[in-house]
Amino acid sequence: MRFPAVCVACGQPAGERLTLQKRRGQLTRRVDVPLCAECARRLARRSGREERLLRLSWLAAAAAALLWVVVALVALPFDAWWPRLLVGLIVGLAAGVWVRRALARRAVAAELPERRAVREAARIDDFTWRDMTLAFADGEMAERVRAMNPAFTQNPTPDAATETSATPVEELSI
Ligand SMILES: [Zn+2]
Repeated sequence: MRFPAVCVACGQPAGERLTLQKRRGQLTRRVDVPLCAECARRLARRSGREERLLRLSWLAAAAAALLWVVVALVALPFDAWWPRLLVGLIVGLAAGVWVRRALARRAVAAELPERRAVREAARIDDFTWRDMTLAFADGEMAERVRAMNPAFTQNPTPDAATETSATPVEELSI
């Protein structure tokens, strides 16, 4: 895949790269897109609330895991300690992951608007083993990428599932 040497978020000359990533089951698709230094800085800057929520997410996850281990050790009706510990670890791990994800989602909701704008400038909308749909917030950028990659086709009407972002989206499929 080829991209013009300009930032996907603002169109300035690009020196950095942003790795787009999307996971589905065991499959992960990654694409590097150009980003300017200024937008890379915007992407790295977190709001105070986002920072706090992320820190809290690890603490809360560890606390939830520990709580379930203790509860399992105390309350389960097995005589041997190790099945109680094993069940406690499994449930505790699941609880920890759940708590961490829930708080990480809230952290994303608290991100700075300029960070979100960079993050949503380009994304992998969908992919299968042989094709991929990229979505661009800026129609002009989508057109330039399409011109450089003749194998791409344009999706003029994004389907309902992609209408999650407030910004208009141009899509390209390969
Ligand atoms: Zn930029």
